[in-house]
Amino acid sequence: MSLGHSELAPIGLFGGTFDPIHHGHLRPALELYEILGLAEVRLLPCADPPHRGRPLAPAPFRLEMAQAAVHDQPGLVVDDREMRRPGPSYTRDTLESFRAEFGEHRSLLLILGSDAFLGLPKWHRWEGLLELAHIVVAHRPGWALKPGAVLGDVMARRETDNAEDLHRLPAGRIYRQQVTQLEISSTTIREILDRGGSVRYLTPDPVVRMVEGSPHYFSTPARSVARV
Ligand code: ATP
Ligand code: MG
Repeated sequence: MSLGHSELAPIGLFGGTFDPIHHGHLRPALELYEILGLAEVRLLPCADPPHRGRPLAPAPFRLEMAQAAVHDQPGLVVDDREMRRPGPSYTRDTLESFRAEFGEHRSLLLILGSDAFLGLPKWHRWEGLLELAHIVVAHRPGWALKPGAVLGDVMARRETDNAEDLHRLPAGRIYRQQVTQLEISSTTIREILDRGGSVRYLTPDPVVRMVEGSPHYFSTPARSVARV
């Protein structure tokens, strides 16, 4: 089987806070699109959670940054369904909505960085996710996956090293993919912005223009005024 980007190829679903989006999200998303022959990768910015730890930038701004980052890149698409849905952004609800839209036979891949994958047991009703999609784990620097150490026997029963399984089956397999290791995080970017530094080369230029000087990423209004 060739892993071409056919219309019926798997769809990659890559959720995140994207506060802001950066090359550590974008490069792995593009590599997975190409290496796995996906129809497309949908980037899904989550809604603003109603509790502590909420993103600095509001949902519409995070969406706009993601759109600016991918606007000229075939294969990468931004999907705003999580922020259109009221309440917390549960991945299970998102996968159910894709399943309803694309039918039971279409392959769906839930893409997770290895840090997110390691936190999976804490997610709302995570066990059922594999009924709705495959899980593709993209390695992230500092978050090594020890074989068999994660999710115990679920991992052992569901893991595959054959990418063709992701095309052949609609859901149910866990697949790990090595991607270019970029040690970039939104947290670091927010810290740099907060001290008035440049984030050029960590994120695409259209995003740089949106975040540098943005009041969302300064802890005091006085500092953003000082930069004008
Ligand atoms: P924060 O520091 O605010 O947590 P982040 O950089 O971790 O931000 P998120 O929006 O939390 O970005 O992550 C969304 C998804 O992207 C997660 O699955 C995460 O594992 C993955 N991801 C983020 N940064 C990288 C990276 N540098 N390499 C690989 N995957 C990444
Ligand atoms: Mg994170």
